[in-house]
Amino acid sequence: VPDHLGVVGLDMAGPTIVDWGRDEQKRRFLPAILRCDEIWCQGFSEPESGSDLASVRTRAEREGDGWVVNGQKVWSSFASFADWCILLVRTDPAAAKHAGLTYLLVDMRSPGVEVRPLRQITGDPEFGEIFFTNVRVPTDSMLGAPGDGWKVAMTTLSHERGTHGITLAARLAVEMRTALSTLTAPAPSENRPFDDPIVRDRFTELWIELRALELVNRSALAVLEATGTPGPETTTSKLHWSELNQLLTALMGDCLGPAALEESNRWSYARLRARGNTIEAGTSEILRNIIAERVIGLPRSR
Ligand SMILES: Cc1cc2nc3c(=O)[nH]c(=O)nc-3n(C[C@H](O)[C@H](O)[C@H](O)COP(=O)(O)OP(=O)(O)OC[C@H]3O[C@@H](n4cnc5c(N)ncnc54)[C@H](O)[C@@H]3O)c2cc1C
Repeated sequence: VPDHLGVVGLDMAGPTIVDWGRDEQKRRFLPAILRCDEIWCQGFSEPESGSDLASVRTRAEREGDGWVVNGQKVWSSFASFADWCILLVRTDPAAAKHAGLTYLLVDMRSPGVEVRPLRQITGDPEFGEIFFTNVRVPTDSMLGAPGDGWKVAMTTLSHERGTHGITLAARLAVEMRTALSTLTAPAPSENRPFDDPIVRDRFTELWIELRALELVNRSALAVLEATGTPGPETTTSKLHWSELNQLLTALMGDCLGPAALEESNRWSYARLRARGNTIEAGTSEILRNIIAERVIGLPRSR
């Protein structure tokens, strides 16, 4: 089954609206997200603000009964197709970095919104730049209060790494079974790749790692069910999943030889797309920092 386009809506915007939205916002947005009638994108990263997300500079200024937004976002997945954007903006430049942010729900068809697609290593323009020029956003499209933006964004990111991350791990289990049937299928005029003990070792190691990831995710799901919000342990899930996915696609590339380079080969595409896994939703370095500080409890680095 191909990926659906409602990823940001279902796994990130929707859960954030459940946590922070007023009743009328829930009524307006959640049914359309569930039906996939409206596609969402995430406008967090900027050219100078990726890992250091709290430094975003896209400005929203009060004007009458709403906000006027100016600035630029980048790497926004599905921006070219999106109807709505979850947007992190700076509303109080005088406040401390994390305190001056606000979270808006922006209609991507508003005058002044321009999307320029960016082509990825796979050849697909899955993400893009979004430029905002005097874009008017009504006050009732704000999630939380002015200044709550950082807290609301952390809810989104915890679902991106948790709710979405758990889904990705379930899909990885399916991918691993598909890989296994490819590796064990008799190859014409050759041995099966799985007959090579090194391939068997590499694959078995990945299988064990996947099992460990599934157990961590089970306990993360228990936390999610009990509290409604994914806990910091989901950071481990996203880190583990992204690295496992890269190792699996690399193994398949090694085993399939030149066939893996053919454009039509699913493992070729998967291997190229997997490069971004350790960058999107927080790079592996940032996730290791979070695990050190919030899961293990080491003191914050300066
Ligand atoms: C496929 C893909 C899809 C994406 N989709 C979206 C999206 O839909 N919406 C969105 O808003 N963004 C999206 N992003 C952007 C993503 O969130 C950022 O790329 C990511 O947060 C890293 O930011 P950066 O690219 O600016 O790198 P930088 O923050 O400049 O980092 C550069 C390098 O420095 C390292 N580094 C930075 N700070 C530290 C530190 N404190 N400690 C240790 N190492 C550090 C990083 O790990 C990295 O290796 C997407 C990215 C990719 C690849």
